[in-house]
Amino acid sequence: MRILLVEDELHLAEALTQILIKNNFTVDSVYDGEAGLDNALSNIYDLIILDIMLPKLDGISILRNIRKEGIATAVILLTARGEISDKVIGLDSGADDYLAKPFATEELLARIRALSRRKGEVLPDNTLKFGDIELNPAILKLSKEARDVKLILKESELLELLILRKNAVASKELIIEKLWGFDAEVEHNHVEVYISFLRKKLAFLESEVTINTIRGVGYVLEVKS
Ligand code: CA
Repeated sequence: MRILLVEDELHLAEALTQILIKNNFTVDSVYDGEAGLDNALSNIYDLIILDIMLPKLDGISILRNIRKEGIATAVILLTARGEISDKVIGLDSGADDYLAKPFATEELLARIRALSRRKGEVLPDNTLKFGDIELNPAILKLSKEARDVKLILKESELLELLILRKNAVASKELIIEKLWGFDAEVEHNHVEVYISFLRKKLAFLESEVTINTIRGVGYVLEVKS
């Protein structure tokens, strides 16, 4: 899961980043509202943790902007103590949840887990299901009933992305930005290589799940009927 953290209090931002990384999330951290909006508009995130009071552009404006652009990424707002009206405005503007500062990191992690369960079918132990397969990204294991196969990290990240998108097509550009980041010098055929690895492993498991190529668009998971 890739998380965007927009928080201008450096100590808090750094502490949260460390905790999220420790919990196997990929984190991009930015410290002002303009950078937050730029990053959020890329639509590569699974979750955005958004402070409200930010330099340059406030969190509520960022939220309104991204919802206006049709970006449905889950957003957790961070509010200062007692900012009740902010809380209400935030939820009206399309936030999925909010946390009042100061909060326990366990509380934040619980909210993240709850939101990711709502979005994809992330099970409590963090495995993801699609058709007859189960992916456990924490231990890079793909299984079907009693059979399983080890994945390398990029294969696991790619399959997780495809599962979480459910029936929506993932473009090569999206896959590259999610797996390698914006500035990566990655060729489109990198994606093809990992797709072919994954197809071999699905075939090895004799899974009913296939990765379909939509020519000129991208890839989508399907269950063979
Ligand atoms: Ca702030």
